[in-house]
Amino acid sequence: MRGLRPVRQGLPCRLHRAAGAGGDGMKRTRWYDYLWIWSIVYFALGFFNILFAWLGMIDFLLPLILAAFGGNKFFCNHLCGRGQLFARLGGALGRSQYRSAPRWMSSRWFRYGFLIFFLAMFGNMVFQTWLVAAGAASLREAIQLFWTFRLPWGWTYTAGLVPDWVGQFSFGFYSMMLTSLLLGLIVMLLYKPRTWCAFCPMGTMTQGICKLKYRAGASKPE
Ligand code: SF4
Repeated sequence: MRGLRPVRQGLPCRLHRAAGAGGDGMKRTRWYDYLWIWSIVYFALGFFNILFAWLGMIDFLLPLILAAFGGNKFFCNHLCGRGQLFARLGGALGRSQYRSAPRWMSSRWFRYGFLIFFLAMFGNMVFQTWLVAAGAASLREAIQLFWTFRLPWGWTYTAGLVPDWVGQFSFGFYSMMLTSLLLGLIVMLLYKPRTWCAFCPMGTMTQGICKLKYRAGASKPE
């Protein structure tokens, strides 16, 4: 479980890998070190066609699948384009203030409280999608930032191409992805590059899964 700590402390991936490898800094670059580009491409695609928002489900499900089967945070440490993007902007490009984040941000109550809030918002988004699918509500061609501010986004959607509920999910999911990106960018600017990782709902969920697997393994008779 010690390997989970660096991500929570907001250190760039490279730092924790180098620390684990003895810190010689001669790390071989791998294809997944460029996944920060994917993160930019994903949000750019949403400006042209909102249906691309569905691709974000990969980032939603893959960390959980890898944690459930591998019992580790391979996704956070290697495959998360968003975490890499924060590390690049805040670290390599020097946009972070490198101040310590307030302690409450990484406290258990805040992490789990934010996770519950996030899951409630996700559930509401799925419910809105269901209402549209059932014909009880009409499609809203807009995104909602910070779960509050509604922005018209209709140019990214062509009516009739797919069922309206598919479009509704896209607008809702893209809203959540963009809101969490903006929150991550704000704390990246104010504090350390990967401060968002301290309370990222995906990180909290994968860490919870890893802990459960670890405990289950430790309690097995030898
Ligand atoms: S904690 Fe969240 S943002 Fe950070 S690396 Fe993990 S999934 Fe990515």
